[in-house]
Amino acid sequence: MSISGDDDAARRAGAILSIDLGAIAANWRGLRDAGRATGRPVDCAAVLKADAYGTGAAVVGARLAAEGCRHFFVAHIDEGIALRRVLPEPPIYVLNGLLPGTEPDFVEHRLIPVLNHLGQLNVWRAAAQRFNQALDAVVHLDTGLHRLGFSAEDAQVLINERGRLRGLRLALIMSHLVASEETSNPVNGEQLSRFRTFVRAMPGAPTSLANSSGIFLGPDYHFDLLRPGAALYGINPLPGQSNPMLPVVTLRAHILQTRRIDAFQTVGYGGAWRSARPSRIATIALGYADGYFRNLVNRTHVHLAGHSVPVVGRISMDLVTIDTTDVPEADCQPGAMVEVLGPHLTPDDLADHARTNAYEIMTALGRRYYRAYFDGYAGGPAEDAGETA
Ligand SMILES: *Cc1c(COP(=O)(O)O)cnc(C)c1O
Repeated sequence: MSISGDDDAARRAGAILSIDLGAIAANWRGLRDAGRATGRPVDCAAVLKADAYGTGAAVVGARLAAEGCRHFFVAHIDEGIALRRVLPEPPIYVLNGLLPGTEPDFVEHRLIPVLNHLGQLNVWRAAAQRFNQALDAVVHLDTGLHRLGFSAEDAQVLINERGRLRGLRLALIMSHLVASEETSNPVNGEQLSRFRTFVRAMPGAPTSLANSSGIFLGPDYHFDLLRPGAALYGINPLPGQSNPMLPVVTLRAHILQTRRIDAFQTVGYGGAWRSARPSRIATIALGYADGYFRNLVNRTHVHLAGHSVPVVGRISMDLVTIDTTDVPEADCQPGAMVEVLGPHLTPDDLADHARTNAYEIMTALGRRYYRAYFDGYAGGPAEDAGETA
């Protein structure tokens, strides 16, 4: 079932990204329940930055709000403004914090800045005075990532001078883990203890430490609010182990043309691939401009009619060539669709082939893909999810 229902746009799209909202909702419920397993009232947010990791922040945000999710994180203020249009009520936190001069925008759209240093705190407190209202704020403590967040010195100033928060409502104290996917990395415990020390010195405010993988480090890491992104979208939070999350995305691309070539012919730019036998090459409608990385050449495959079909020749901006010689000709006519991501090849698998992680694969998913939303979880993922009949 298509929820988006724009049949014409689907028909014109070279590739269709099917997104299982039911699976995202089930993944969210699973993480929330993991947080509640010990009986503490741990809440579960949703991280919707980078357009919900390529899946569509507005649609996913609305679906998760309907599911009971009450806290949403984005990276940029403009992501927050866009999300506010579909989520009028719940808190939306902006991880990148305050850019100079953006305080009125935060106030107007009721967005909550994640304050990353004392300078931002001062600006936000001044804004509270100027707008004559108590403004919500998040204090982000750097416990070792050394990227964003209050330094140990800034944190100590805040502990000593609580008046610096006057006029603000401390909605959350948070930190972010360096290597949560490495369960035995000692940095996890070190960050946990730094975070605990700070939280004890600043009692009263809700607290948050765990991203997706952090949730699987156990209840010590859960605090009051879980902050998963990746796992919601089916990315494996436990690299090297079997994936506890439901798959969310399927990507299928049209075959535009097929051709027979003789042995020892080259395919694609630079003549970088040469056929070893008479071959049948199919050209499909996606390329590096859609986030199908150039370094995937000769390293990955797509699926077609039960066959694993190698990607051959350089990847172009808009096109990819595949060697369909071993697939029955009837199955690879122009107009047929090949599976680029899905049950046979997950974003984690493709990330391995591209020597990156699934986060990069997902957030690079092309804007030219037609996004077909469906709710396949209740009855099991629909085979023809991408069709919008
Ligand atoms: C991106 C991000 C998250 C979500 O991380 P995942 O690993 O995708 O679950 C949580 N917290 C912060 C600060 C982030 O930047």
